[in-house]
Amino acid sequence: MNEFSREVSVHEKYWSECLTIIKDNLSKSELEHWFRPIVPLGWDENTRDLRLGIPSMYFAEFFDEHYVGLLKSTFQRVMGDGAKPAYVVMVESVGKTTVNVDCGRARTTAKEIAPHRLDPQLNPNYTFDTFVEGDCNKLARSAGMSIAKSPGNNPYNPMFIYGGSGLGKTHLAQAIGNETLNNFPDKKVIYIDANRFQAQFTEAHLNGQINNFLNFYQQLDLLIIDDVQMFAGKTGTQNIFFQIFNHLHLLGKQIILTSDSPTNMMQGLDQRMLSRFKWGLNVTLDAPDQDTRKAILRAKVKSDGLYIPESVVDYIAVNVTENVRELEGVMVSLLAQSTLTNAEINIDLAEHVVGRMINVKPKTITIQTIQKAVCDYYHLEFNDIQTKSRKREVVQARQIAMYLARKYTKNSLSSIGEQIGKRDHATVLYACKAVSDLVDVDKSLQKSLEAIENSLR
Ligand code: ADP
Ligand code: MG
Repeated sequence: MNEFSREVSVHEKYWSECLTIIKDNLSKSELEHWFRPIVPLGWDENTRDLRLGIPSMYFAEFFDEHYVGLLKSTFQRVMGDGAKPAYVVMVESVGKTTVNVDCGRARTTAKEIAPHRLDPQLNPNYTFDTFVEGDCNKLARSAGMSIAKSPGNNPYNPMFIYGGSGLGKTHLAQAIGNETLNNFPDKKVIYIDANRFQAQFTEAHLNGQINNFLNFYQQLDLLIIDDVQMFAGKTGTQNIFFQIFNHLHLLGKQIILTSDSPTNMMQGLDQRMLSRFKWGLNVTLDAPDQDTRKAILRAKVKSDGLYIPESVVDYIAVNVTENVRELEGVMVSLLAQSTLTNAEINIDLAEHVVGRMINVKPKTITIQTIQKAVCDYYHLEFNDIQTKSRKREVVQARQIAMYLARKYTKNSLSSIGEQIGKRDHATVLYACKAVSDLVDVDKSLQKSLEAIENSLR
């Protein structure tokens, strides 16, 4: 067995004995607030320090002021003469700040300091409520929700979330963390991105604090590491992560990893680890389809209490297709632009903003694409308007297709007639006039045309 094995280590044994004694001298809430957040990290036989991981320096000061007597006598009973606490502030500086607090020096009072818990490093806005569901993320989202109901104890351990940039990996992973804490406030949850994990590890290594680093991560209930493709080529970090992974997995603790692609995930992780990952769940976040893009935009508009016309939402959803981050970016610029120039948010402004931010490939509009857009809009078969049908909706669709062909292509009237239902140029002329006369007075036709034209752009 090596030092990272499952055996209870000496510092854990000492601390648990101390707690048994301390428990009898404190109220339940004191124990809960001030002793539960403490994590035993190590025991140094030479200095007789018991290293205790604490959430912050304030915590140390307050804790020491109020409990130094109790701690001293308990340490004396359990570990013998000279035993003292050494506090290590966790997370921000794992493996860095070891502070021997000068007992009795602290000035803070209970009122000034609320009890601290381990900071999970989660963004509170990244929740399931704000993570709009669509075909692109259904499986990942529902698996994530099951995990939050029963972290560690589910078929999805570890969970791997793949997806290109801006498709919601970080949001989803953090939503699982937030929801887990909602359901189980006492669970120890940490979100960290792979780069930061690597930096912490390097620092711990340089300071000879690897054990603290390991102990900290090995006592978690849920560990989320974002963008593990960043581990590629970093053998030291991969090895330490392997140890943490094994430890947590063996104890039935939950692990969630994200990566931009399965291939990069593999480059980021050790071969030994990859074979273990077969147990878990692999899910991919795809680019959102048009309906999901609209739903995301609408949710954003609603949550920000904004007013943006539906036609503008549609325009953005049709033209900004790559990822969600881009959708949000367009929305933010649109608002900024409208506030700065005091301009109304409308399609023209949206076109301007989208055009500047995204490379909108100018689509070539052909009679074919028009015919398809019109038929899609009216739920007709692609060839319906080519037939001789005199049904009202087919006639209207045919006339609109002619009108749009005249507006958006350079085809002559007879060429348009030839391509749409084999009609002569007079019929096309009549159709164009009929549509443009009607559009001035018919609101519903205006809306239909706007929607079809949006889908052409
Ligand atoms: P990734 O980590 O995959 O690069 P993020 O999780 O950072 O992507 O997502 C980019 C932005 O898009 C974030 O602001 C996030 O809140 C938002 N986002 C992504 N997916 C959704 C979704 N399904 N519903 C709502 N917002 C989303
Ligand atoms: Mg991310």
